[in-house]
Amino acid sequence: MVFYIFFFVLKKIFKSQNYLKILYITAWIGFVFLNYRSWTTFYGYRAQGWITQINNYSFLIWLTVLFFGVLIIIFIYDKYFFQLFLSIWVVLLISSPVSIFLANYFSQNLQTNTPKIVNNFEEVVFVDKPDIYFFLYDGLASFETLENFYGFDAKNLKSILSNNNFYIANNAISSYGITSMSLNTIFSTNYAVEDGENYKTKNRHILRELNIMNSQVIRTLESNGYDIAAYSKEFNCEDSLNENIVCLGRKNSKQIFYELLIRTPFQIIENNQQSIPFYFEILDILGLDCSENCGDLKLQTIMEIFHNELNRNEERKPVFYFFHLKNTHGPFYVDEKCNSLKHISYNSNAFEMSKPYIDSIKCLEKELTGFLDSIDENSIVILQSDHGPHYNYARNYEQLTDEEILSRYRIFSSIKLSKECNQTLSQDYGQINTFLQIFNCLSNEPIDNKKVKSFYVPVDPRFNEVVEITNRFNY
Ligand SMILES: [Zn+2]
Repeated sequence: MVFYIFFFVLKKIFKSQNYLKILYITAWIGFVFLNYRSWTTFYGYRAQGWITQINNYSFLIWLTVLFFGVLIIIFIYDKYFFQLFLSIWVVLLISSPVSIFLANYFSQNLQTNTPKIVNNFEEVVFVDKPDIYFFLYDGLASFETLENFYGFDAKNLKSILSNNNFYIANNAISSYGITSMSLNTIFSTNYAVEDGENYKTKNRHILRELNIMNSQVIRTLESNGYDIAAYSKEFNCEDSLNENIVCLGRKNSKQIFYELLIRTPFQIIENNQQSIPFYFEILDILGLDCSENCGDLKLQTIMEIFHNELNRNEERKPVFYFFHLKNTHGPFYVDEKCNSLKHISYNSNAFEMSKPYIDSIKCLEKELTGFLDSIDENSIVILQSDHGPHYNYARNYEQLTDEEILSRYRIFSSIKLSKECNQTLSQDYGQINTFLQIFNCLSNEPIDNKKVKSFYVPVDPRFNEVVEITNRFNY
């Protein structure tokens, strides 16, 4: 519709044939603008040799492509074959929202037709059914990393944990160093891809099927009578008619608008915000000022929503709560007292943003203390991160340094089970064994732990092979 009006206006203004030329140029520029982020990322990874010595080379390549595209349209516009090509291209461009919709429609059908249910452990029957709270602190470093890289002694957090009888797995490691893959390990109690396997082709299928709601851990909790309450985008219960399940989404409209904007060259402004005098004013004008709306909801608010949504009229059922909290991941939204920052930076690099990163951990301590005081003392509480912060962002295995391993793959991991069960925990607690050990405790049935492993999965699209890095943790 918008496009048609635009087309019509152009036709009126440029009475001659030129309106078509303007239309094609505008379509080209619009297309290149919307692909700014993906194209510059692509150039950033793919470019090699002398060109990478030039400052901002991926931006310059993008600009050159934009410029030559316009030139080509202007100069060979009159050629018949070119007009034919451009017409087809514009039609494809206009119809892309339709094709995306159709593709989603069909792939959703495909997905629901082939549910994949794998069992990685025997059926478990619980003897004891306490409430279970799982706090996934996205990107929270291990104590060792916090001391070595940030000069931060997390003594407050340590004393909160010891006062509340938590077990701390000091040597815990992330299975993949990536959110979705690590969560998959925790909830499927399985490694999705292993050493030497092809990551991208397999990963696409893993990610498509990754709805934690279908994992064996969640199914086990449900079959033992648990209600499920999740605050995470990895949990999807849209299709579920079960009123004992509640999923709380986390995206607000500002973030969606921001993510659209960041695909365009607005990212240049974003990357250089320190040197742009009116950066925060620009954000205010665009309505992107974050103050109240970004970051995690307060725990108390989440709990109130959960309790309103879950039908609490019938007899009291145990609940599994999952809080996927991202304040520690960056962008960083809160100060140490958990007040929302008025102006935030979208720089997510914890090492460069160490002050707000540490503040987000102090906020976490404050919220956690209040929360632990408010719940039943027999509850199980899991505190775990999926991976640590980036130190160097290793693009391939050869670039993976010991520092990167310490920072990215060592994780924070702690748990409070019953007194007897806590005594049986060992240093292989965490990630793949998280729920195996909990279920072992709740059922009194022996469930074998699995071997703790860690894998490097390539960030650079040129590399595709998964490499096991477990033995690099013993340095
Ligand atoms: Zn993560």
